Amino acid sequence: MTDDIEARIARVAFNDVGLVPAIVQQWDTHEVLMLAWLDAEALRRTLTSGRVTYWSRSRSEYWRKGDTSGHIQQVREARLDCDGDAILLLVEQTGAACHTGTRSCFDTEDLHAVDALAPAETKAGDGA
Ligand SMILES: [Zn+2]
Repeated sequence: MTDDIEARIARVAFNDVGLVPAIVQQWDTHEVLMLAWLDAEALRRTLTSGRVTYWSRSRSEYWRKGDTSGHIQQVREARLDCDGDAILLLVEQTGAACHTGTRSCFDTEDLHAVDALAPAETKAGDGA
């Protein structure tokens, strides 16, 4: 028997404006899809309805993913991190997770970090 829903929500350390960030991952491939924010009510709806619901900071309203786009997220699992201040949502993503139409929000912009495991790059850096 799991804890009461309110006891589970009470373990979340929401930030000073009452929100917690959620990393969203495709449950079977572990593909990282997006990051969004939930307040206590969005988390309650997510944990009890099986559909991921967010709080939209730009529109100041609840946003059940997929209601307008059809790109729904069905909850498989929700995990709280070690400090209680971030959530990992494992979902079955239908279609694109990103509002721009890409599968993942992280598909488009490469910040070109140095590849620490690439031997050639490491050698060049050591010579400087
Ligand atoms: Zn996006």
